[in-house]
Amino acid sequence: FFWWIWREMAEARYMIYKDPKKTAALRVKDLLSRMTLEEKIGQMTQIDREVATGEIMKTHSIGSVLSGGGSTPLPEATAEDWIGMVNEFQKGALSSRLGIPMIYGIDAVHGHNNVYNATIFPHNIGLGATRDPGLVKRIGAATALEVRATGIQYTFAPCIAVCRDPRWGRCYESYSEDPKIVQEMTDIIYGLQGETSSGSRKGVPYVGGKDKVAACAKHYVGDGGTTKGINENNTVIDMHGLLSIHMPAYSTSIIKGVSTIMVSYSSWNGKKMHANHDLVTGFLKNTLKFKGFVISDWEGIDRITSPPHSNYTYSVMAGIHAGIDMVMVPYNFTEFIDDLTYLVENNFIPMDRIDDAVGRILLVKFIMGLFENPLADLSLVNELGSQAHRELARGAVRKSLVLLKNGKDGDVPLLPLPKKASKILVAGSHADNLGYQCGGWTINWEGFSGNNYTRGTTILQAVKSAIDPTTDVVYSENPDAEFVRSNEFSYAIVVVGEHPYAETAGDSQTLMMADPGPTTIGNVCGAVKCAVVIISGRPLVIEQYIASIDSLVAAWLPGTEGQGITDVLYGDHDFTGKLPRTWFRTVDQLPMNVGDSHYDPLFPFGFGLTMESKAVTRSASAAVHTRPYILTLIISIFIYCCRKGIILA
Ligand code: BGC
Repeated sequence: FFWWIWREMAEARYMIYKDPKKTAALRVKDLLSRMTLEEKIGQMTQIDREVATGEIMKTHSIGSVLSGGGSTPLPEATAEDWIGMVNEFQKGALSSRLGIPMIYGIDAVHGHNNVYNATIFPHNIGLGATRDPGLVKRIGAATALEVRATGIQYTFAPCIAVCRDPRWGRCYESYSEDPKIVQEMTDIIYGLQGETSSGSRKGVPYVGGKDKVAACAKHYVGDGGTTKGINENNTVIDMHGLLSIHMPAYSTSIIKGVSTIMVSYSSWNGKKMHANHDLVTGFLKNTLKFKGFVISDWEGIDRITSPPHSNYTYSVMAGIHAGIDMVMVPYNFTEFIDDLTYLVENNFIPMDRIDDAVGRILLVKFIMGLFENPLADLSLVNELGSQAHRELARGAVRKSLVLLKNGKDGDVPLLPLPKKASKILVAGSHADNLGYQCGGWTINWEGFSGNNYTRGTTILQAVKSAIDPTTDVVYSENPDAEFVRSNEFSYAIVVVGEHPYAETAGDSQTLMMADPGPTTIGNVCGAVKCAVVIISGRPLVIEQYIASIDSLVAAWLPGTEGQGITDVLYGDHDFTGKLPRTWFRTVDQLPMNVGDSHYDPLFPFGFGLTMESKAVTRSASAAVHTRPYILTLIISIFIYCCRKGIILA
């Protein structure tokens, strides 16, 4: 009898979910069976760090905290500060009744971009130009280390949108207009999360250790296909188009073990994705067998109704019914918790839907070892902005550059530039502006202007360190033509482009270069040989400037390592980048993607010169051009000789 009592008590004390030797599935089952509805709904709730406290984490058993694009930036916070904050929330979560750890998410979309001193890699459009999934995987691994260095375990990346219209303000977050390239670039997931020996996880999430993070493929699905590129708008396409253009990168990400998938604000043929049961539950979970969790976008379920938040209870019901597991409710989380509780208690949402959602969230937390290692320590802080990561980023910048033109017709190529010259000019609004160079989603989601918010090398600084010390470098942001002419520069580098933006603020129906870029090009290139570098998140309207420019380089949004650009301009490396998207002539042509019947681009998809091949082409064409002259010469000599009777004689 005593043995029986002892055994019963021991079993009651033994909590399978706390036993790391048990499988994740068993641990999920055990933990779920112990949770109240309140605790389950808490796990489904993700709140912003600006409202989170240790006490709130504990009281509501909150499942996740985020630094959203909309959160006030923390430009001065060190890795230690971030760790302190994340650990405080974690301690709150751990002191809840069942001690379930929270997971902290952030938009580390081109490196750990919200954090001062992090290595900022090129935005996805530049990585698409490299055509190098291996490189992107290494960038993922470096990003994971930097994110973990600040105590954070989850990134809302990669964005696997297939941007079909550059008017979209998020085009730079897309690797390419070509679904195949986007699909290949999902190798970044292996870098972020780690990789098992088979490579295929068949839908089961994988996060391999304390130096890896949970990834998030976003935004499901069709975000890059909206009409006129209008952000969060409607994607009009049939099922075949959806499956062949926008879906392949998702099926591949799922095979690679992506832990989470974020739903898109956009609609598919008029139906909001956040309320699309067929595509979220039916296709993603049932057909593609995705076993991780589905997360909403920031206040995404609010936007199921128009105007947003006008019938919130309905939105909660529609979103959860569609299959969303974790809901980003940055601020008004008690309203969400109350509404969802009401809906479950009154049988509008069945308990097994809640269990499905919570089970998926817990599965990711178990698989990534959060229960065993919930708190961050300082062991990785030196990874943030490390020299090795900066070298990796510099190499990525080199590979992302696309050479569009080198030398005016019949003229010698300007690139590579000589390092030794008497006096050179560096001009343009983007030449000495780290914020512009990094673009949106850097410290602030809309990006920044100037050189003070993070650490890196501007293009001007890179030029100064690349050239021979005897060369005189003159910098002028927007010089007038007379100044350029009178100075007799050997050559000029002009860096112009777009100002940073994010999401809807970046939507543009005109796609013009920011002022005074065109004036600077006119003033400089009219007076001296010039290499123009365009810093932009997408192709822009440039046809009218091309003739005046000697050499033209698309550098996208390269990030903090400006030396990657001078490495190539000065010939230490050649250009290898290929256009990841079609460079249109006029906006009237849009949308225009490779394969379209009306395809008449300024530069086609895949275009990209090399400095070497240009030389080869020149000598090859020289041979072709000299051949007729030699023939004419022989014939002329023959006729001359005939006339003189030399041959007949
Ligand atoms: C964006 C997401 C992002 C989220 C959190 C939303 O506005 O659409 O891409 O992950 O904010 O910052």
